[in-house]
Amino acid sequence: MDASDRDRKKAWKLQQRKLAQDAFPISDALLESLFKAVDAQVENSGCDHTLRFTQSWIAEHKQPEAEILAWLREHGGFCDCEVLSNSADNWEQNR
Ligand SMILES: [Zn+2]
Repeated sequence: MDASDRDRKKAWKLQQRKLAQDAFPISDALLESLFKAVDAQVENSGCDHTLRFTQSWIAEHKQPEAEILAWLREHGGFCDCEVLSNSADNWEQNR
């Protein structure tokens, strides 16, 4: 691989990251708060295969539920524990 290939690959990666960031439904700080809250509650009570902790955080913080849930599901978050293992992973890698 020559230098220009490396540059192209780097530019592509940056662009992919930017696209992923643009797709975040709420700010980075709010996502961090969401994942932290859900993590603490799943740790305490376990996951019941719903998005109950995610949805209660959304309601409590008056955030746009449809957008957030669509984004979480797009990244494999169909219940609280998957939000943490899948959707949070996409956020960690691209934030
Ligand atoms: Zn689960």
